[in-house]
Amino acid sequence: MAEQWSRVRARLQAEVGDVEYRTWLKQLIFSGVTGDEVTVILPTRFLRDWVNKEYGELITALWQTENPAIRRVEFRTAAASRAAAPNLAEPATAPAAVAAIARPDSAAPLDQRFTFETFVVGKPNEFAYACARRVAEAPNTAGFNPLFLYGGVGLGKTHLMHAIAWEISSRTRGGKPVSVAYMSAEKFMYRFINALRSQSTLEFKNELRSVDVLMIDDLQFLIGKDNTQEEFFHTFNALVDAGKQIVISADKSPSDLSGLEDRLRTRLGCGMVADLHATTFELRYSILEAKAQRAGVEVPPKVIEFLARKITSNNRELEGALNRLVAHANLFNRHLTMETAHEVLHDVLKAHDRKVSIQEIQKRVCEHFNIRIAEMSSARRARNIARPRQVAMYLAKQLTSKSLPDIGRHFGDRDHTTVMHAVSRVTELIGTDAAFAEDVDLLRRMLET
Ligand code: ADP
Ligand code: MG
Repeated sequence: MAEQWSRVRARLQAEVGDVEYRTWLKQLIFSGVTGDEVTVILPTRFLRDWVNKEYGELITALWQTENPAIRRVEFRTAAASRAAAPNLAEPATAPAAVAAIARPDSAAPLDQRFTFETFVVGKPNEFAYACARRVAEAPNTAGFNPLFLYGGVGLGKTHLMHAIAWEISSRTRGGKPVSVAYMSAEKFMYRFINALRSQSTLEFKNELRSVDVLMIDDLQFLIGKDNTQEEFFHTFNALVDAGKQIVISADKSPSDLSGLEDRLRTRLGCGMVADLHATTFELRYSILEAKAQRAGVEVPPKVIEFLARKITSNNRELEGALNRLVAHANLFNRHLTMETAHEVLHDVLKAHDRKVSIQEIQKRVCEHFNIRIAEMSSARRARNIARPRQVAMYLAKQLTSKSLPDIGRHFGDRDHTTVMHAVSRVTELIGTDAAFAEDVDLLRRMLET
């Protein structure tokens, strides 16, 4: 039995993930089996009810796969089963679950740096930015409630949320400051659970329903948390009905947030939905420039360009890289050069080294220009063939660490001077022919992601 239990435990942990496991399930104690019923024990009534409601089905199912004779799992509190004989708990620890609930209870402070002034606007985020500004200036404008911002990690969702909150809370309505409640969905959950535990849900509800603006960051964390979601849904409706503004962020659009209840999903999509797209080279460049300037450190354009080309994943990493350079420059009182950049960011750059191969580049380029892959190595010089070939060579130089002779070899054993010529020809065309530049940029982006 002990063995079965430890397997159930392991699978449970794998199923729910470390964080949830540590928060809720670590203190689960196996008590015994009577007939077709397993008894497990939790330290408090609150935990017993919570674990039963949230994980009861899963735990039962895991037991059944381990031991088909099991039909039910009974959840008890320690007090209710003092007599329980075999105690197969993990080594005793502090009441982790309760601590985890209590800890994040203080309100999330807003980051001073995340304002509209410090937000760099570019093509990928201009729409989201405009919507955020609009809501900040005139909360509860028709069509903008709720405002739903979504996009991948590090693209500026939290920054925009804080900017809205700063802007709004600097205003007054009827002589009183406008009240804004900003919190992550996780915080919302913890606060709600905490309220349940301390039997103060009414206070919690009233507190939230009294604000002028409710902002929930990273809503995707509510997925699978059914009763928190339910509570959020009611709060949401109450606030919208009372003419209050709601702002939500998530990593996906409402329609793509699978696992969210349909009625909530529908309501989330009812106002304005704005996405933050992946960054472009131009945006990354501007962000770096702005941040370097604010830090008061002179970063050569070449270094900025280098970083903007290399660190394409998200703005957070970009900023992290710049911060390291700035710290280094300050510490050693040295001017920043390409050499320092390479040296200081060695590990980051390595992680970002694009794994794209010359073959991949050739394939993409051929698809794009609709020519056969064999033309990459052929001797034909017709413009409609030669130009794509040059583009492929150019991209190979830009996106891989291969040498010119190496690249030449992949293109029908051409000489390195041919590759060099291709690179300078394409560079020149990018400067003079906007449509061509767009083509190359598109290809680069497709290859980079
Ligand atoms: P998300 O919440 O989408 O994961 P954040 O808002 O936390 O991303 O942004 C990550 C970091 O990148 C923050 O330090 C933020 O200030 C910065 N950042 C993101 N987008 C921009 C932007 N457009 N202008 C300036 N800084 C930005
Ligand atoms: Mg965020």
